[in-house]
Amino acid sequence: MKQLTILGSTGSIGKQTLEIVKSHPDQFQVKYLTANQNIQLLAEQATLFNIQGVCVSDRNLHSDLENLLRKRNIEILSGRDGLIELSGRNDIDLLVNSLVGASGMAPTIAAIKAGVDVALSNKESLVMAGDHIVSIMQKTGANLYPIDSEHSAIWQCLRGEIMDQVKKIILTGSGGPFRSRSLDTFSSIKKEDALNHPNWEMGNKITIDSATMMNKGLEVIEAHWLFGMSDDKIEIVIHPQSIIHSMVEFKDGSIKAQLGLPNMKIPIQYAMTYPNHMEGSLPTLDLNTIGTLTFEPPDLEKFRCIQLAFDVLQCGGSAPAVLNVANDEAVFAFLDDQIQFTDIPIIIEMALNTHKNILNPNLDEINEIINWTKKYVREVIKKRDKS
Ligand code: MG
Repeated sequence: MKQLTILGSTGSIGKQTLEIVKSHPDQFQVKYLTANQNIQLLAEQATLFNIQGVCVSDRNLHSDLENLLRKRNIEILSGRDGLIELSGRNDIDLLVNSLVGASGMAPTIAAIKAGVDVALSNKESLVMAGDHIVSIMQKTGANLYPIDSEHSAIWQCLRGEIMDQVKKIILTGSGGPFRSRSLDTFSSIKKEDALNHPNWEMGNKITIDSATMMNKGLEVIEAHWLFGMSDDKIEIVIHPQSIIHSMVEFKDGSIKAQLGLPNMKIPIQYAMTYPNHMEGSLPTLDLNTIGTLTFEPPDLEKFRCIQLAFDVLQCGGSAPAVLNVANDEAVFAFLDDQIQFTDIPIIIEMALNTHKNILNPNLDEINEIINWTKKYVREVIKKRDKS
């Protein structure tokens, strides 16, 4: 029986993880859950899954959560400190990190420091602190299992292969909702249009990242750290049907691909059951029904965020952290109707141009950079509001 912690259990990935647990009661037991603010659902989940401890990140909700769980013998933590303390506990086998944005980094680090394996949905952890995470894993022996569908595909294609025989990684992307929309109409994009992804059902932040295609850019950086591939060996191919989840090309020209329906439960479950492929209650892919798979190159002029991600990966140092935090803040501001869709890459680029890159930043410096970037972006947005 695998003991689990789920960070962000009330979000899209967290809820799907619990559904997988429910359909395999003999395989998994959940010990700890965390949520940002949705204490109602957190309390329901804690009761249903007989949880030992919970944490709500918003400290102001601590006593409300206590009320919801009164008379039940459940440990209650709160705040950022509570989240990190709980993430660093080693009385579990696997921590599923499905937090959103930069806030997921410190919990990932706490878990791998404690020697606990992490099923990672929070790609931002690797974007911001990839080299630290890799070196801590080497010290403690903890493993990272990708939940991101593209990286799960690459991971599966690489099983049993010899890494220096790999020529390149081919990341597929659907192209998002604006793949065939012309760039001169981008300024009139509404939040509702951007939240309407053609293939994948996901949380709001990642859905906007898919619309700007920053998601693909972040995935390039994630692939770099997960598989040790340099930026010139990672290619993006647009594949609107989202059936091929990514590919690996070898030196002899052979290409391996992983296919499946666009459903996050497949990569989530594989990260939980690795190295086993187990039965699940999921519909399977019928290629005779799908019929056609198509491919096209990404449009880097239209989706400026992809180029920005390649640029920061090449520059290294603290630039990827700035890109990630500036993107988080810009996306949250767009979701809050404070800026336009087309402002997102502009604001990220402003932050990158203002920041003085630090090579090999330590974790304290990365935390300072996170704070600086948040403050910088919020000020830029405030000024734009007034002008
Ligand atoms: Mg993905």
